[in-house]
Amino acid sequence: MRQSFGRRRSVVFMVMAAFAVLGCVLPAGSAAEPRAKNVIIMIADGCGYSHVDAASLYEYGRTGMQVYEGFPVRLGMSTFNHKGGYDPDKTWAKFSHASKSGATDSAAAATAMSSGVKSYNEAIGVNPDKVPVKHAIAYAEECGKSTGVITSVQFSHATPAGFSVHDANRSNYDAIARRMIYESPLEVIMGCGHPEYDNDGKRAARKDYQYVGGKTAWADLKDGTVMGADADGDGSKDPWTVIQDAADIRALMQGPAPARVIAIAKKRSTLQQKRSGNGKAGAFEVPFNGDVPTLAEMAAAAINVLDDDPDGFFLMIEGGAVDWASHDNQAGRLIEEQIDFNEAVTRVVQWVTENSSWQQTLLIVTSDHECGYLTGPDSGEKDGGPVWNPIVNNGPGKDPAVEWHSTSHTNSLVPFYCRGAGSDLFDRFADKTDPVRGRYMDNTCIFRGVMAAMGAPRPDPE
Ligand SMILES: [Zn+2]
Repeated sequence: MRQSFGRRRSVVFMVMAAFAVLGCVLPAGSAAEPRAKNVIIMIADGCGYSHVDAASLYEYGRTGMQVYEGFPVRLGMSTFNHKGGYDPDKTWAKFSHASKSGATDSAAAATAMSSGVKSYNEAIGVNPDKVPVKHAIAYAEECGKSTGVITSVQFSHATPAGFSVHDANRSNYDAIARRMIYESPLEVIMGCGHPEYDNDGKRAARKDYQYVGGKTAWADLKDGTVMGADADGDGSKDPWTVIQDAADIRALMQGPAPARVIAIAKKRSTLQQKRSGNGKAGAFEVPFNGDVPTLAEMAAAAINVLDDDPDGFFLMIEGGAVDWASHDNQAGRLIEEQIDFNEAVTRVVQWVTENSSWQQTLLIVTSDHECGYLTGPDSGEKDGGPVWNPIVNNGPGKDPAVEWHSTSHTNSLVPFYCRGAGSDLFDRFADKTDPVRGRYMDNTCIFRGVMAAMGAPRPDPE
C-alpha cells in the first residue's frame, strides 16, 4: 500500500468510534469461535425493494418468490456515506426526502461493507482521510481462506475494487486493476473490461486498456498467464491463469481448476445491459449478447476454483448492471439484470446444499444502495401527503408497470437477507426500526458480522 500508516492509531480510534456511534458491536466472545468456513456476499448494485419485486412479478407473476426472501434473516439496511445518515420519520414524511437527502455511491458502500468504515463517495478501501483500511478479505486471507471478487461489469469497478484494494478515487481504473492483478492476494477475479471488444462483443474500433490496468498489463494478461503477488501465503509469487472465452469460463464450473483465475469476458463494460438495441424495450425483447457467461455461471466457476481450499473461502459476487439499468431508467433491462442476479443466488444456494452446508457457509444477499427511486405508477407527493404505490403486476413474462423518480442513487433502505453459519449475528445488529421496512442495521455491520462469523480478530489494536 502506498499511503502512510503513520496515522494508524487514529484510524483505529476512528473505527472504534464509528462502531460505537452506529451501535454495531460484536457480542462478547463471539470473535474467538469461527462459525463460517465459507463466506459469500452477493450484492445487486443499485437494487431496492421495488427492484426485487419488479423482477419477481416478471418471473413469477407474484412477489415474495425469490429464494433469498425465504432466508431466516431478513432485515433492512442503511447505506449512507460518512457525511450522511438515515432518518425514518423524514424519509416517510416527504416523497422526495430519500432522493434528496444525499446518497452513497458504490465505492463508499463497498468500503463500508468490506472494512466497517464509513467514507466519502469515490473512496476505495480508504477512510475519509484517504488512509487505507483493512478489508474483510485481508482478514479472510489471514484465516487461511482463498478469496475472490466477481461482477457483471468491469472487474476494476467500484464494488469489486472496494472489497479488495485501496485507492483515493474509484475512477483510477488502471491503477486499481493493476493492484488487483499484481498486488492483491485474491485467487479469483472475474468481470468485464475487455480492451479489444465493445459492448456487443464486436472488435472495438478504439481499444481502451484502462479497466485491465493499461496497455502493458494487457500485454501480460493476453499471454494467458501473468505473475501476481503471493496468494497462498507461502511467501512466493503465484501466477494467474487468464481466460476470456465464455466456453473456458463455463469449463471451470466443475472438475479440476487452476489455483488462481482472472476471467475477462469479451465485452467492454457489461455482460448484457449495455448491448445495442432499444434500451427501453421490454425485458428480453432485444436479443442477448453471445460468448459471455451469465453471472450464475461465473459464480459457479469462481466457487469451483475457490472451494479446493481446506480453510474455506470468501467470495463477493456483484450484479453490477442492476444499477446501470436503473440510472438509465430502463425497466426491461433492470428486470433482465435482476433476474441474472437472482439466478446466480439460486446457483449459489444449490452449491451450498449440494457441496457444502448451512453449518459451514454464510450467504449474504443484499444491495449497496437503491438507484432510480423505483415505485409503482402514480406515486409522489399528493394533496393528502406522499404516496408510494406498489409495482403493478401484469403477469409472468410481462413487464410490470413501474415509475422512476430519479436517475441517481437514493438514501432509501435496501433489503438484507442472510442464511447459514453465523447469520444470527446480523439479527442482533438490527437495533433500529423503520415504520415501513421494519428492523434494520447499518451496512458497516456486514463487516462486523462477517468478521465474527469467520472468527477473525477485531481490527488490529496497535
Ligand atoms: Zn450507480
